[in-house]
Order: sequence, then structure tokens, then C-alpha cells
Amino acid sequence: MLKINNLHATVEDKAILNGLSLNVNAGEVHAIMGPNGSGKSTLSQVLAGRDDYTVTEGSVEYEGQDLLEMSIEDRARSGLFLAFQYPIEIPGVSNAYFLKAAVNAVRKHRGLPELDAMDFLQRVKAEMKAVGMREEFLYRSVNEGFSGGEKKRNEVLQMALLEPKLAILDETDSGLDIDALKIVADGVNRLRSPERALVVITHYQRLLDYIVPDYVHVLSKGRIVRSGGRELALELEEHGYGWIDEEAAKGA
Ligand code: ADP
Ligand code: MG
Ligand code: MG
Repeated sequence: MLKINNLHATVEDKAILNGLSLNVNAGEVHAIMGPNGSGKSTLSQVLAGRDDYTVTEGSVEYEGQDLLEMSIEDRARSGLFLAFQYPIEIPGVSNAYFLKAAVNAVRKHRGLPELDAMDFLQRVKAEMKAVGMREEFLYRSVNEGFSGGEKKRNEVLQMALLEPKLAILDETDSGLDIDALKIVADGVNRLRSPERALVVITHYQRLLDYIVPDYVHVLSKGRIVRSGGRELALELEEHGYGWIDEEAAKGA
């Protein structure tokens, strides 16, 4: 589903990703961990297609297509979902309007009929209940004035409604309380399916107590330096990231 090969990327002429390779198949849950500044968020921004990040080498294939050639809109329409560390606020646009437009754009791309207002409301209300959001959040501007936890719920709501093929979540390094962690984990776990792949990017092992990944990768200085099963996350929890950087330095 996703094939990242030897990806190099720069931000403001600074090399951040230095030959990152990763394969993700349908049905798999991958965790990408790594110390602060190792390039985790840069990877998610490059996959999202943000134009302040420049790919200088390598390739990214998504469902057989060259992802780097796809527009941001096409990426979303074709089932790629990205949740960012800092969700955007859209003043003046109601959450209901935004969600309905997003859902229908994806449905259209999949050759499904648009949801009308009634069907949409029914679906969105059921999903809101699942993430513990009150209905008033439908009529507020997207993320404006939402607390951290409310933004998280909203992000998981978006993800559930869009039914992505590949969801990539870049989780904040700090400030996620246990409730927020569980919201994210429940959302991810509900989406697990043989047709779908999930990539969870996180600094902390704690999230992975709730989302049990099939594979764990460790990013250091813009490359994956270690891959393994979930036990690798436990090792990191125990020993920190220092030994990874030492190993990476030896290998280099
Ligand atoms: P992580 O998410 O693993 O903590 P990031 O991808 O956010 O790491 O950052 C990796 C490196 O790239 C850091 O040194 C950071 O300062 C730098 N960086 C990221 N974004 C920018 C930017 N927009 N401008 C300049 N430097 C950046
Ligand atoms: Mg960071
Ligand atoms: Mg980050």
C-alpha cells in the first residue's frame, strides 16, 4: 500500500530525512518512534504534500501511484488520512459543513453516492457518540477554541467518517493526557481491518500500550535504524533512545 524508498527531504535547505525506507501493507499497524528532532513530523508533512518540504531523492508509492506527484486533495480523496500534531483551525466554517464536504469528496472518488443531509447527520451523530463528543461541536467552527482533548476527539471523528485506506497519525510528544491517548487508541483500534493500514508516529511508548502495533520502527537522524515487533517499543521504554543513536553512529 505504501512504499517509501530511500527518501531524502530538506526543510529550508537543511537535510532532515536521510534515506528513509518503509513498506506498509494493508491490514498492518506500524509505529514509528524516535527521539525529538529525528524527523518524525517531517515524514508526515512530506507524505501530506506540504510544499515547504522538498524531496531531494527517493520515492513514495501509494497504491501503485507516485504519491509525490499527487496533489494534496488527491491524496485525501484517494483514502490517505493524515492527523497532525497541531490540527488546523478553520474559523467561519462549521464542523458539520467541513466534515460533510470531506466525506462526500471521498465518496465521490470511490464512486459512491453523496450522503444527503439526513444520512450524514445520522452517521456523524453515531460516530460522535462513539468518541464522546456533544452535538454542539457540529455547529462550531472547525477546531476553533477546542481544547486539546476536543481537538483529538474531532480528529478521530474525521478519521472514522472518512474511512481511510491508510491513516497516518503524528501524535504530540507531550500534553496528551491518558484520556486523549485512549480516544486516539480506541479510534485507531476501531479502524483496524484487513483492507486498511495505520501508521502511528509517536515519541512515547505509552500510546502503544493501547494500540498494539504489528511493527515498530525507530527513526534516528532521518533514517529508520531499527525495525522489529512490539517488543522493540518496550525495549525503548526501558532503555531510552540513547543506545539507538550509538548504534546508528557505529553503523554509519
Ligand atoms: P520530530 O517530529 O521527530 O521531533 P521534526 O520532523 O519535527 O522531528 O524535526 C526534525 C528536524 O527538522 C529538527 O531539527 C527541526 O528543528 C527541523 N525542522 C522541522 N521543521 C522545520 C522547519 N519548518 N524549518 C526549519 N527546521 C525545521
Ligand atoms: Mg518534535
Ligand atoms: Mg514531531
